[in-house]
Amino acid sequence: MSSQIINVLKKKVAKKTWDNWFSTFELKSVEDDRVVFSVANLFIKDWLQTKYGGVINRSIHEATGKELPFEIVFKDGELSKEETAVHQQAGSLLKRKPLMISNLNPEYTFENFVVGEENRALYEVARDVARNPGKYNPFFVYGGVGLGKTHLLQAIAQETMTNFPDKKVLYITSEQFMNDMIQSIKENNIQKFRDHYRKRSDVLLIDDIQFLIGKKGVQTEFFHSFNELHDAGKQLIICSDRNPEELDNFHSRLISRFQMGMLMTIQQPEAETRFHIAKKLAQRESVSLPDDVAMILASNIDGNLRRLRGAIIKLIVHSSVYNARIDISLASRILQSFASSPGIPSSQKPIDQIYDAIERIMKISREDIKGNSRNKEIVLARQLVMYILKQHFGKQVVEIARETGKQHPTVIHSIKKIDKSVMMGKGSTKILYDDLIGLLSSRSAAV
Ligand code: ADP
Ligand code: MG
Repeated sequence: MSSQIINVLKKKVAKKTWDNWFSTFELKSVEDDRVVFSVANLFIKDWLQTKYGGVINRSIHEATGKELPFEIVFKDGELSKEETAVHQQAGSLLKRKPLMISNLNPEYTFENFVVGEENRALYEVARDVARNPGKYNPFFVYGGVGLGKTHLLQAIAQETMTNFPDKKVLYITSEQFMNDMIQSIKENNIQKFRDHYRKRSDVLLIDDIQFLIGKKGVQTEFFHSFNELHDAGKQLIICSDRNPEELDNFHSRLISRFQMGMLMTIQQPEAETRFHIAKKLAQRESVSLPDDVAMILASNIDGNLRRLRGAIIKLIVHSSVYNARIDISLASRILQSFASSPGIPSSQKPIDQIYDAIERIMKISREDIKGNSRNKEIVLARQLVMYILKQHFGKQVVEIARETGKQHPTVIHSIKKIDKSVMMGKGSTKILYDDLIGLLSSRSAAV
């Protein structure tokens, strides 16, 4: 019966999808409480979990008659000869996708990046960078919050990996760069850190460089990495929320390095582009947004696209919770609630921001979260607080335990639990999480 799962699944997805993504996907075991699959590529593992979680769940249900959660594990080791042959025959993407632990969002692709006239030139150069690494070096993109910088950077990273499977592509935020550096100093191993960035990357993408403002030591380290990579003809791609000249107190030599390559701004999308972006954002959640609804959203929410995304997620949540059609009247109501919600001040402590967001979206008070109730919703809210502190605000487990007054193991358990639901795209928790993140991310533009 269990082998049926794969057959059922295969029938549910298009052949091309199967060949591209499922060619190393195998059933490993069916246990009492879960189904385990294996896959030979970490990038694909993430992709399957986010994009095909729903259809995998349905197939398990259909084949076993049970609603078992699933897990995808990484199949260690090389492919066998036969497997390799099969993949070559199938022209599978697996051959072309490098093996990597990806911190990239599989949705942030060029395909999902809607191009209006205002950003056409930027888009063309970005594609060119992915085709000809080293041609525009560095490539520096700057612009306001929520205009698509991270999306574009990750699209370049993913496309470069597809075009050049042998190149080592490294995408990080400048905050991660700093944390790695501090960690290596603590461990007395700065050389390893330097090798990692300077010797083991062919293409280095650094997001949100403005984070290094005021951090001279890290800037110096970055300057040296930059030079070494640049001298070796390696591609550097950097983004920032402001023009290099406006990076206050940055080493001037670093600023002039940024200016010597291709410098481009990312523009606010016009209403027409926002209309297409709205449709695309909904499509990413497997929802088709009627034109009139996309229009009303696009004409009422400008600037920060995270706000547009937040509104769309809210629309989808409402329509599924209340079983309502996604139409103009629902959209207008969502827009009203958006207009009257001033956003969450980012000056608050992260945990207070999360309490606020949960209060608004789940209607659960912080007193309830801090209390001892075992009510299902409240327990979920409590776990979400811990998870968001970790995922969104990058807090360590120790800090989370201290701030929430919970025991270590409880924190770890909660984080794991939510992570599983979110990674598997499990309906309501995933949508709730996206909704909360949408609200938390929109805070800075919503003054
Ligand atoms: P930034 O890094 O500039 O703050 P992000 O890259 O995080 O912005 O973009 C915010 C959201 O808007 C993301 O969900 C992203 O996918 C979406 N987005 C931004 N620009 C576009 C675009 N041109 N087409 C489609 N989606 C976009
Ligand atoms: Mg960003």
